[in-house]
Parts: sequence; C-alpha cells; structure tokens
Amino acid sequence: MTVSASLPLLAGQGLPQFEAITPKQVEQDIPTLLDALNSELTALETKLEQKLVETTPLTWDELMDPLHQLGERLRWSWGVVSHLNGVCNTPELRTAHQQQQGAVVQFGNRAGQSRPIYRALEALQQNAANLDGTQCRILEAELRDMRLRGVGLEGAEQEAFNAASARQAELATTFSNHVLDATNGWSLTLTSEADLAGLPASLRELLAQAARDAGESGWRLGLDMPRVGPFLKYSQRRDLREQVYRAQVSRASTGELDNHPLIEQILQLKLEQAQRLGYANWAEVSLASKMAGSVAEVEALLDDLRAAAYPAAQQELEALAACAARHGAAEAAALKPWDVSYWAEVLRQESFDLDSEALRPWFSLDQVLQGLFGLCQRLFAIRIVAADGEAPVWHSDVRYFRVLDRASGQALAGFYLDPFSRPGSKRGGAWMDECLGRSRNPAGEAVLPVAYLICNQSPPVGDTPSLMTFDEVETLFHEFGHGLQHMLTTVERPQAAGINNVEWDAVELPSQFMENWCYDRATLMGMARHWQTGEPLPESDYQKLLAARTFMGGSATLRQVHLALTDLRLHSQWTPNCGQSPEQLRRELARTTTVLEPIPEDAFLCAFSHIFAGGYSAGYYSYKWAEVLSADAFSAFEEVGLEQEDEIVATGRRFRDTVLSLGGSRSPAEVFEAFRGRQPSSEALIRHSGLVAA
Ligand SMILES: [Zn+2]
Repeated sequence: MTVSASLPLLAGQGLPQFEAITPKQVEQDIPTLLDALNSELTALETKLEQKLVETTPLTWDELMDPLHQLGERLRWSWGVVSHLNGVCNTPELRTAHQQQQGAVVQFGNRAGQSRPIYRALEALQQNAANLDGTQCRILEAELRDMRLRGVGLEGAEQEAFNAASARQAELATTFSNHVLDATNGWSLTLTSEADLAGLPASLRELLAQAARDAGESGWRLGLDMPRVGPFLKYSQRRDLREQVYRAQVSRASTGELDNHPLIEQILQLKLEQAQRLGYANWAEVSLASKMAGSVAEVEALLDDLRAAAYPAAQQELEALAACAARHGAAEAAALKPWDVSYWAEVLRQESFDLDSEALRPWFSLDQVLQGLFGLCQRLFAIRIVAADGEAPVWHSDVRYFRVLDRASGQALAGFYLDPFSRPGSKRGGAWMDECLGRSRNPAGEAVLPVAYLICNQSPPVGDTPSLMTFDEVETLFHEFGHGLQHMLTTVERPQAAGINNVEWDAVELPSQFMENWCYDRATLMGMARHWQTGEPLPESDYQKLLAARTFMGGSATLRQVHLALTDLRLHSQWTPNCGQSPEQLRRELARTTTVLEPIPEDAFLCAFSHIFAGGYSAGYYSYKWAEVLSADAFSAFEEVGLEQEDEIVATGRRFRDTVLSLGGSRSPAEVFEAFRGRQPSSEALIRHSGLVAA
C-alpha cells in the first residue's frame, strides 16, 4: 500500500485531514488496511522463520522496525477513527466504528500471539550485546506482554488458557450487567415536600425529571451516583438516608443478580491463569508489568498510608459527631454510615463555604491558558505559541499550538486543544491522546510529537468567555501534564518515547504533578483575575481552596487504602480452599482499614466493578502509588522554596530532562531517582493530604 493524499484515512502519516474523513471511508478503508497489514504480517512471519533457521543473527532493523511500522499504520488510521468517534460522533460514524472494532482487535490478538515473532524477539534478546538500554527495555516489555497473553504455552495448555480468557471476559460482562441492573432496578418515589427536606433545587429538579420520565408524579430517587451522592449529602431525613444507603451498599448481592458466586469464579479463574503462566497468583501477574516490585512493597506503602490516615479519619469522625451534637441531633452519640456525608457537608459549609460556581468569573479560559503556559515556559524552558489555522481541525472550537525550545527556538511539538463540551457529539470527561508520536517516517525524516488535549468545560455564551470551575482548571493542568510527557520526550525509539512503555502505576506522575501547581500561590493568584474587573481572587477564597483540598482527607485516604488492600489480598492470598469467603476476607481487613465498620448487608465487593469487570484487578493500588510519585516530585520544588526563582527554574529544567524527557526508555524508579536523587517517599503525599498533626 502506498501513501496517498487522496485516501485521507490511509495516509498513515502527518496530521490527519479530519474533515475529509467520512463514515463510508471507515467502512471501506479499514478493511482494506487490515487486509494489507495481515498479508504483510504473514510475509514478515515467513521471513523471520527463514531467518531463524539460518545461522546469521537477526538485527533490530529486520524485526523491530517492520513490526513498529505495521503497528503504527494501524494506530494512525484507527486512532483517527477513534478520535473522531469521541469528539465528532454521529450515528453513522458510531456504527462504522462498531462494525470495524472487532476486526481491529482481532489483528492485535493475531500479532500479539504470533509464535514466529515471539521466537524472533527471543533470538534478538540473546544477541543483546549490540543493543542499548532503551532497546533492551522495549524488547523485555514486548516479550513479557506476549508471554502474559499465553504465547509461550503449548497445545492443550494454550487451549485451556484461551478458553479461560474467554470465560473471564463473559463473567466480567455478566458482573457489570448485574451491577447495572441492580442499580436501575431500585427506586423510591417521594410524594411529599417533607421528604425533600434539605435538598438543593438542582437535585429536586433531577428527581422530578426522573419521576416524569417514569410516568409518575412526585420525585423519584435511584441508586445512580448523580442522585444518590447528593441525596446522602443534603437530605435532612435520616430515615430516608438510611433506606437509600442500605439499598446502595447491598446492590447485586441477592436473588437473580447476586454477584457473590461470580466473584469466587472470577478469582479462581485468575488464579488458574496465573499458575498456567508460571506465577503463584494473579497479583504477581499484575505486578509483572508495573513499577511496584512486589506485593510486599505495595503492602508496605498501603500500611504507611493507613497508619497516617487512620487516626486522622478517627478525628474527622469525632468532629462530625461534635458537629451533630451542636445541632442537637439524636445520632450524635453513634453516627452511622448514612450520617457521614450529611454531617461532613454541614461541617464543610460551617467551616468554609466554598461556592464553586461563584469562583468561575476568576477563571476565564484565556487567563487560565496564560497561567498554564506561563508556568510551563518558566519551569521547562519552552515557548508555547498559538498556531491556529496551521493545522487541519475537526471543529471550529479547536485550537492548535506549537511548542518550541526557548533557548534555541527549535520546534519540539504541537498540540490540539478542544476545550468545550458539545453534548450529543462529544464524549464526556477529559483526556490526552497521541496524534503523532516522536519518530522518523519511512523516508527517515524526524516526526515531531503532536497531542490531542480534550476537555469538556462550559463554552462561551454571547460576550461572556468560557468561565471555568476550579475543578476544570485542575483537569486542564492534569491533562496538560500527560501532554508534556508526550511532547517533550527526547527518546529516539518510538516504542519508548513519551508515555509509551511507561509502567501503568507510574503514568500519572506528570499529570498529578501538574495539578499541584493549581494550589501554588504564585501560579494561582497570577492567573485568577476577574474577567470583567481584572481584580485578583480574594485571599479568603484562596484559603478556602486550600482548606477544601484536605477536608476529610483522612477518611478519603483510608477508604482508598481499604479498597486497594482488599483487591491485593483477594488476588494474592485468597484461594477456594483458604477457609474464608472473599467477603470474610474483606471484613477482616475492615477492622483495621475502616473507622465505621461495614454494616451486615454491606456487600460492596458485589459492585466493585473496577477489579471484577475492569482492568484494575490487583492494580487498584496504582492510584495511590502514582500519587506518592507526583507528590514527592512536587516536594522537590517545595524544598528549594517556591519563591526561590533560580532554584525553581533549575529544578524545573531537571524535571524536563528526566521525567518528561526519558519516557519509557528507562525504568520509572531510575527516572524518578535521576530527578529526585533518591527513591520515592510517601512523606509528601501524607503531608499534602493533611494527615500530619500540625
Ligand atoms: Zn491522567
């Protein structure tokens, strides 16, 4: 297949011609591409098999370059389709995407389980004397991932492995369907004003709408988060809070939707799969591709956090009880789980009432971008310039920017920013994705990285610019952190450039690191200016933002520790013959990881979709693991003094030259140590979470 400008979806390189791509082309061109890739893969396999019987050693260029080119062409073309499906969705495009997805996954499976490629990778590794450290790491990761897909298993063993993988996928789907059905299957219709005591207008409207949709009068409560979360927070009706809480924690735990038997089957299957692959348990499989070295290492971190969070969570609960007592509430003597959100909200309002809507005028998009770009230019010695009109876009809201090296003026990267929500055609949430990765094209010319930065904030209305909530500001900084790692990479090998080949539990380092700057006085006060009057954000609001960051921090940390430890123990210690049900194991852990014991009908495991139906099994700890890294990295700046400009600039430069530059070319522990001069410590995260006695 040749590169052709007349086939925008098959161009395979350069910035995509977004507006020229139609659903019809997706239906025609993706099968054409997959046909071509499949025959090229077959040709490569044949060539490799011949090479393997010869005595001449295999070289990197003969194996890794063609393999990368194959993967890159699919990534480029399917990446554009997936991107458009996320940001310019139409029913036709969605159908076209769905129709091709199975074939795309199938090609990935075929390449990922190819014996000739696996054997060639092994042969290449045996000649590692000619390879540099980055190449060795890329090779190790390729081999490991193929092994974890069962490529090394023989005959009946591989059949059993594949059958179990398929069974696992079915069980995961059934598990999440049960959660969904149980969530949707419960409702409570409130009929009198007295039932609504304490609820804000927005929630009343949501409940009234739900009742209208169901053909009822009154207000209909359900177990989905947008309704149950605010209800537990605001409802003054303790009896109703109890009723909804009990329903919420016992979802999918009885009758036809009971997930208990599925939990045991899923855990047992994973254990067997791990053993087929030569590991003792599933936690070892999970950790084989992560930064954390061992189960013991993860447990040690979780225990550090537990020790700091437990007393803080106890004090927080006492403060809530004291607050309830001041209000003369009967439950003050013995708060129950359904009281916690409610009294936390009362106490929060009494201590610092932060109205997130009222802060919007201080955060217009232009001001925030100036603040964000100014910070990055200062820390990382780059220059960010608007380049609207220089790149094809998929919507008139989308902006394009270039990133240059400040000293040399050399072009480093580019990025798209698609900031506003477009209900109906754009997926919710925020993300960074790769448009182009740093590499060389087939002609040998350098390709600069280009990132997609997608947010979903309020669009401008009339003469009013887009005004952001503080959460939206943090989100933009977060995604930009991912973008910086993608764009400022200096790694020459595309397989390890940017975020590629970075371990999953370390990939949130740059993003969460950037969030910290939203609380830095100079950064925040520099950008928070009223869009009409130019006034700075009042000091009292800044103090409220700081207080809100750590409010109930002990309880939040302890909950994450409880979930992470439960996940880890279920996947490392539980066996069908261990004499304990998964539920009993969780309850035993709850004695030291919860302040309020779970109530008897609490069957949280039955709705723990992250680990039983998502990709987080024996990986839930990653949230906290990455936060340790990002907080500790930020503390390097705190240590030199956030007002010490020279020191800050030097530290920022070091961050660019290590974390942002080295990507997946070295182990994350090595990269971290190159920046910090030592191994990571949980001290900064504990301090930032407000868990150190003042
Ligand atoms: Zn992220």
